[in-house]
Amino acid sequence: MDRTEGEVLKERLFNEKKNSWNNVNNEEHKEVFQFANEYMFYLNQGKTEKEIVYFSKEILLKNNFKDLSEVQTLNPGDRVFWVNRNRSLYVAVIGKKKMEAGLNIVGAHCDSPRIDLKQNPLYEEGELGLLKTHYYGGIKKYQWATIPLSLHGVVAKTNGERVNICIGEKEEEPVFYITDLPPHLSRAGQDDRKLSEGITGEELNIVAGSIPFEDKKISERVKLNILKILNEKYGIREIDFTSSELEFVPAFKARSVGFDESLIGGYGQDDKVCCYTALRGILEVQNPEKTAICILTDKEEIGFVGITGMSSHSFERFIVELLEKSGENLPGMIEKVYSNSKAISADVDAGYDPTFPGFYDAKNSSKLGHGVCICKYGGSRGKSSSSEAPAELVAEVRKIFEENNVDYVSSELGKVDKAGGGTIAVTFADRGIEVLDCGVPVVSMHSPYELTSKIDVYNAYKAYRAFLK
Ligand code: MN
Ligand code: MN
Repeated sequence: MDRTEGEVLKERLFNEKKNSWNNVNNEEHKEVFQFANEYMFYLNQGKTEKEIVYFSKEILLKNNFKDLSEVQTLNPGDRVFWVNRNRSLYVAVIGKKKMEAGLNIVGAHCDSPRIDLKQNPLYEEGELGLLKTHYYGGIKKYQWATIPLSLHGVVAKTNGERVNICIGEKEEEPVFYITDLPPHLSRAGQDDRKLSEGITGEELNIVAGSIPFEDKKISERVKLNILKILNEKYGIREIDFTSSELEFVPAFKARSVGFDESLIGGYGQDDKVCCYTALRGILEVQNPEKTAICILTDKEEIGFVGITGMSSHSFERFIVELLEKSGENLPGMIEKVYSNSKAISADVDAGYDPTFPGFYDAKNSSKLGHGVCICKYGGSRGKSSSSEAPAELVAEVRKIFEENNVDYVSSELGKVDKAGGGTIAVTFADRGIEVLDCGVPVVSMHSPYELTSKIDVYNAYKAYRAFLK
């Protein structure tokens, strides 16, 4: 039947958001699910920034990328990476044009909210061995109690030795645990606390053991027994906690969610979903016009800081080495490179949650299953602390997405004056690099088990690949 004039006009003029699953044929459906399986494997391999960097480096090596330090000169088409102190990873595919013409950059972050140990963590109370913690990133603390936690990290010893520890990921290994009161007791006060104080920071104590050392003449026998085990297994003493980075994360594996298996549940999808899709994207970049850069950076969740965060000059060290080895390093060149460069800050957005509609502007939030979300500005209140992308850049990125069949929506984080947040976008803008936020919508962001849609993950991969090519 012929469509009416109004129907035709409406389709042409309205920005109707369509469910991406509608456009997927059988073959693509298989591809989307296969990609999701590979992504879930990645999530299970890397729960911390160091593990993600390590595992991503393995993927790069298998795909003919070389360590930049082992390369003397760079030519168009060359594929290199640099690992910054085991915590950040910078990848490049050298373009046909000189770097002066600008770079195409996709930057994601490999750290996620978690529970770190305090400097003096181990103590004994009520005949239990316990660990004091200090949470990392923005968490709702009550969510982290009574779930299985695994321990990941490193202890650096004064003799130069670096002891890697990972306990609780294998079925046969023990896990760790933060306690909570039973409802029978919490009536006496805890139930009346504000949600944000349901479990306080000082109550995030980890149960680490309960068997006392056999010698009854000494005190703190449970604590001694734990230290004895640690000493036998890892050669460490209590003082070595001082020079350690021991991180507790949920011990859950990433899984498909729902009868139709269309969704992904997993820890740390903010922002490992963008790490994986950006990395997969750059693997497929061959002989690009402009040099393509992919960044997996640490310390985003605490403000892009530190020697491995995106505000650090470590990034300049990488770019300068690329310039030097390409024979392009002249005074002031890096500023020229930056001013001609374009970046996507690849980070997640808060996916629309129909259980809590009052916390979103439904017209300006991203529903699961509609593709990637473009976020022109973040920040809070009157766009404060946002690096707002220029309209011209948004148009350029839209063009790339539309020509490459990438499904996208445009959204912002929650309601005006009621929500807010930022990404490493500001660190690109500060360098004079045009930047736009674009990532995957995540429901229950920053919780121990976050939710994404397989079709959005696949669209992110298509989006970053197209931008880098
Ligand atoms: Mn993030
Ligand atoms: Mn985050």
